[in-house]
This record gives sequence, structure tokens and C-alpha cells, in this order.
Amino acid sequence: MRPARVVPVRPDFRDADIEDVLAAVRTSLTTGQLTQGAQVEAFERETARCCGVRHAVAVASGTAALVCGLRALSGEGGGEVLVPANSFYSSAAAPLLAGLRVRLTDVDAGTLAPGVRDLERAVTGATTGVLLVHMGGMITPDVEAVAAWCARRGLWLFEDCAHAHGSRLGGRHAGTFGAAGAFSFYATKVLTSAEGGMVITDDDELARLVRLYRNLGKPEPWRSYHTVLGENARMSELHAAVGRVQLRRLDAFLTARDRVARRYTAGLAGLRGVRPLLPQHSPASWYKYVVVLDPGTDRQRLRALMREEGVQLGGEIYELPLDAQPVFRGRIPAGEHPVATDLCARHICLPLHTRMSDADADAVLRALEAALADPDVTPPPRH
Ligand SMILES: *Cc1c(COP(=O)(O)O)cnc(C)c1O
Repeated sequence: MRPARVVPVRPDFRDADIEDVLAAVRTSLTTGQLTQGAQVEAFERETARCCGVRHAVAVASGTAALVCGLRALSGEGGGEVLVPANSFYSSAAAPLLAGLRVRLTDVDAGTLAPGVRDLERAVTGATTGVLLVHMGGMITPDVEAVAAWCARRGLWLFEDCAHAHGSRLGGRHAGTFGAAGAFSFYATKVLTSAEGGMVITDDDELARLVRLYRNLGKPEPWRSYHTVLGENARMSELHAAVGRVQLRRLDAFLTARDRVARRYTAGLAGLRGVRPLLPQHSPASWYKYVVVLDPGTDRQRLRALMREEGVQLGGEIYELPLDAQPVFRGRIPAGEHPVATDLCARHICLPLHTRMSDADADAVLRALEAALADPDVTPPPRH
């Protein structure tokens, strides 16, 4: 097949950024300061400032950010976490890896996140905390109500912000509504360090514990004296150098993504058979532009037809609910989450990255409209 004209994601490194990364890497290699040094410290400081928090702790991946954050929140005492059924593997795997149990919740059809009623339905006497995932970069308008509900019940709230770099609601950055937030800097995310993650928090003790769990449970970085069952989740200087040049582009990235998203929203307004899910706040990361398809639409076929037109759709968020993943069978109780299951089955994510032109966005809209008009994709109404 021909390469797609419009690809779903594309990392964005300008020449000046590449030069700065190369200079930083050169310094690391010549000084021998390869990990957990000046670059990592600067990346942490800059992230904390950007999010308006006291602490940012860099780790090796988003999954590690979740695991270290969960260990810090729960110690090694176990407990049960409520996790939305429609999230990514790591949202459920991280609690299990941290020795916690997982109970899945349903979500709201407009926000892809659980509201208080969904949490009420899922909570048990064993529940110790809630993992809220800002799907596609959308912070649910229920976030304050969810945080208040957690506080009333003595549960911690941890935010999976892997999609939500730069997303703010009422001026507050994603990751600041609960006890802590976890970011990923994987290659496909809004900001990337190639691989990497970050835990943000205002809580001094939590930050101390995350640092401990990140570095093999050593209170003193250079001494082999271990007080908790930590792992090696450290970020290297080389990765931090990449993350730093991305972070300083955040505002420009958000502006570019917003431009594409607005063009989509305008173009979809008259189109039948689709319902875009839009964040109710600004700025939004626009990690994904989510479009819910009418029931009965053949998503596989729609994807294939659009691909023939040169448009490659992004991965769904997500194709299967977590309890349908083979790995979680027997590890997570199958949940009652009809809304999440339905949304998983019938949404698509339009291509969205910072280097898309208006013409690219229009090509996506044209390909979508043509695919929806295909009788094999959208069955004609029955009489
Ligand atoms: C990407 C992602 C993660 C994990 O991040 P990695 O850096 O790939 O480990 C966790 N949660 C969600 C929702 C993600 O999209």
C-alpha cells in the first residue's frame, strides 16, 4: 500500500531543538553524567513550574510513573483501586504490579470518564483509591466532584495524565486535582522524551516516596542501603534532554493541535452518523480527536476505506475494555460497564499532530465523509 498522506501521529523536533539535544547529549557523554543529573533535575523543575506544583519526579516511563505513584500512595499494604474500564493496559497493570487489586468502573458517554455515580456503583469496602484517566486529554467537568467524593470517603485520587499534557480546567493543570498525577513521554504522546514519565504532586512526603520507589528503594542515591521494595525507574540524562526541548514547545504544540481540532469540529458539524467528543475546557492537549460512530457502523471497513484515500486513523482509546484483555482474565473481576464497552466498540480517532496543514485536515474530513457514504460502512436504514 502507498504510504498514507495523513499519518495519525508525528513527533515534532525543529532544527534548533535537535541542536540543543545534541549539545546536551555531548555534555553528558563527555562529563560522564549519564543519568539522574542536571538534565533530569531541570526537566523536573520545568515540569513542576509548568503544572504549578511543588514536585515533579522524572521516571523511565508512564507505566513506571503509575507504579511508583501507586506504591507511594498505598505503601506495600495493598488495597483496591477503581479504574475506568475503557483505559489503556497500564492503567490496570500498574496497580496489579504495585500489589493492588483493580475494580473497573463505567464512564460517562460524553466525557469518557467516570462520574460520581459510576464510582458509587463500583466502590467496595476494600477500595482505597481512584485512578482517574483524562482520556484523549479531556478533563471531565466532574473532576472536582470526583475529588470531593474521594476526600469524603478517605480515598486517594491519582490522575493518569498520559494523554493530558497542557490540559487545564479552570486554570488548573491535569494532575493537580487529586493527590498526584502521572505523565508519559512515550513517542506517540503530546510531549515525548522518546521514553519517559513524570509524577507530579504538591505533597512533600509523596514526592519523597516516589523518589524512593524510582531508585531501588535507596534513601541516599549513591549508597546501597535500601528501605523499601523499589525498582529501577530512573530517567537518563539523554531522555531528559529530549523531554526538555519538547516541554518548551508545549504552548506552540497546543495551538497547532487546537487549530486542527477546530477545523475538524467545524467540518463535522453537518455530517450525519458521527458525534465528536469535545473537551469542555481550554487549553486541551487534543491527544486524540474522538468521534463516536452511530450504532451499526462498520469501523474496520471505515478504517480500510479511509486508508485507501491516504488517511491513516489513529489507534482507538481503546478498542477493548480492560476486562476483555486476555492478560486480565482471572486478575480483574469482569465489570458491569455497558457505556464503556459500547464506546470502545464504536469510536474512531482522527489523525492529529502539530505538523498537519489545513489541507491535511480537509483530506481527513473528505475521506471520512466518503467512507460513511459507503453502504457497507453505514447500513441503509431498515424499513
Ligand atoms: C501511554 C499510556 C500509559 C503508559 O505510558 P508508557 O510511557 O507507554 O509506559 C499509561 N496510561 C495511558 C492512558 C497511556 O495512554
